[in-house]
Amino acid sequence: MSTTFSSFIPPKRILMGPGPSDVYPQVLQALARPTIGHLDPQFVALMDEVKSLLQYAFQTKNELTMPISAPGSAGMEAVFVNLVEPGDKVIVCQNGVFGGRMQQNVERCGGVAITVEDEWGKQTSLSKLQEALEANPDAKAVAFVHAETSTGVLNDAEALCKLAKEYNCLTIVDAVTSLGGSELKVDEWQIDAIYSGTQKCLSCVPGLSPVSFSPLAIEAIKARKTPVQSWFLDMDLVMGYWGKGAKRAYHHTAPVNSLYALHESLLILKNEGLQESWKRHQTNHLSLKSGLEKLGLELAVDEQYRLPQLNSVRIPEHIDDAEVRAKLLNDYNLEIGAGLGGLAGKVWRIGLMGCASNQKNVDYCVNALNDVLK
Ligand code: PLP
Repeated sequence: MSTTFSSFIPPKRILMGPGPSDVYPQVLQALARPTIGHLDPQFVALMDEVKSLLQYAFQTKNELTMPISAPGSAGMEAVFVNLVEPGDKVIVCQNGVFGGRMQQNVERCGGVAITVEDEWGKQTSLSKLQEALEANPDAKAVAFVHAETSTGVLNDAEALCKLAKEYNCLTIVDAVTSLGGSELKVDEWQIDAIYSGTQKCLSCVPGLSPVSFSPLAIEAIKARKTPVQSWFLDMDLVMGYWGKGAKRAYHHTAPVNSLYALHESLLILKNEGLQESWKRHQTNHLSLKSGLEKLGLELAVDEQYRLPQLNSVRIPEHIDDAEVRAKLLNDYNLEIGAGLGGLAGKVWRIGLMGCASNQKNVDYCVNALNDVLK
């Protein structure tokens, strides 16, 4: 190991994998601004703006909308530790890696996870969910992943929530990859608890997890018989710092500069407009699809539920997956993702997320793949 150390200068990559995605230059500039105190009145004013901008991004009026000071997995934990008590039954839909993590969260909270399983690469089936709801009238919640990053599938969040509500269940949604990239309407679709990440379609730095809880979810938290087992993620305590009004109490030292960055990326989203952002992700996805098809490559997910921001591409036979990805990274500074779990070696995952979703990147990626596959 070297005994001399110097500053780390990262290579300039183009991030077209499953995340993190490229970060807007304005967001990196915001990150580099001087740190101020996390109880400074000016910082508190910024926190209020972050909450309003997140309400816009999530399309919600939920008061309890804020970023957790840790990545998407912490947002996931925040939702489950607050809503699931020992013995609670939660129906968890699984059609990829991240549904599996939801199940583990339920079980670690002492809850009982009833799984609704669909093949990886297919959508969660409404009829299977209905069967599970019929068979488990005492279920407290239904949980599912909106955008399954491991496969490139968009689950029908609106229909899944509508069905769950017919059985009086709370709805828990993973929107780590969907927020900002796919249509998402928290209030209209009756989502009770949702978590996301900053490093995908928001094109912010990794390390924060926006969450939102509906009034019904708050009621469920207030009705708990046992204290939330996580001190750091207990929403009641967190809200002492993030809640309304000028009087905020210290809970933990907020990641001040990362919050400048999130504010900047949400401003960019607001200025572009949500609808425009969803449309841009779709347009660039279609352009990538047509470029890949010209190379003889095909997408692995059915057209009607393909994610525009995460494209699973079948790896042709006799092609060495790892060699292609290594060549793209080393010779083209281009990162694309490998398949996960059962899809390892079978698909590449090409992300077009946030500011990385643009025509220049589509062309660059298609041309680089063309060269490398020759
Ligand atoms: N859920 C989904 C759908 C994801 O894609 C990811 C990360 O890729 C996570 C949860 C976990 O987020 P993080 O890696 O920020 O902890």
